[in-house]
Amino acid sequence: MPETPELQLTAPICEVFTSAQGEGLLVGVRQVFVRLRGCNLHCCYCDTPRARATDGPCSIEDDPGSGRFTQRGNLISVGQLLQIIDSQIQADDGIQHSIALTGGEPLLYPEYLHVLAAGLQQRGQRIYLETAGHLPEALAKVLPAVDYIAMDWKLPSTLDKPLDTSQQTRFLHLAQQRECVIKMPVTDNISEEEVHQALRAISEVTRAVPLVLQPVTLGVGECRPPDAQTLLQWQAVASEFVNDVRIIPQCHPLIGMR
Ligand code: SF4
Repeated sequence: MPETPELQLTAPICEVFTSAQGEGLLVGVRQVFVRLRGCNLHCCYCDTPRARATDGPCSIEDDPGSGRFTQRGNLISVGQLLQIIDSQIQADDGIQHSIALTGGEPLLYPEYLHVLAAGLQQRGQRIYLETAGHLPEALAKVLPAVDYIAMDWKLPSTLDKPLDTSQQTRFLHLAQQRECVIKMPVTDNISEEEVHQALRAISEVTRAVPLVLQPVTLGVGECRPPDAQTLLQWQAVASEFVNDVRIIPQCHPLIGMR
């Protein structure tokens, strides 16, 4: 049957593979990861520089979790991607918890993501969106089909250009309608002032969304994590603004997972 115009929409895809979620409150659950290409930010701790450029190949894992990949051109239609995800799920006996839509920045492609997420929802899949948390209009477009949102709250000192806080707060307003977690990557170079500003902005929207202080991974990107005592101090500070504050590092690099 020919694809509808919606299913013919294309976006640059970096990779599709199966792994365990390595960050945040759902750490450890098995997911099919769909990583889109392209990003309009520059974070000092970026662990997926391969996904920042819109050019480069798309790598599709041959068997779920095998670590063996076949490369193809990166422009993939929604219809083709749904077929690829279907075959990953079938080959894995449907044991995955959810489908992670990640990047790069997946919300750079709101139309594409909207159709993809709706198609996955129709198949009974749960959608886990990982995003930098700065594109509220794009989130509004995909929100109906999304179950979980892991939004970063990026501090100015971790970026080459600070984000517009009003966009971040508008994003959080929307995101809190779903099961949501805020991940705040922290380095040894963050200032009290920027942390307080961020926590005030978050708490003016909600105290109820859990906040994960995520120390950046040593050896990845251009910055370094704080020491343990400093992390615990930030946790105490953040607990004045948000009900549930946790310290969780990126777990997947610890065990060599993608
Ligand atoms: S938003 Fe994500 S992909 Fe983009 S630079 Fe930051 S960490 Fe890397």
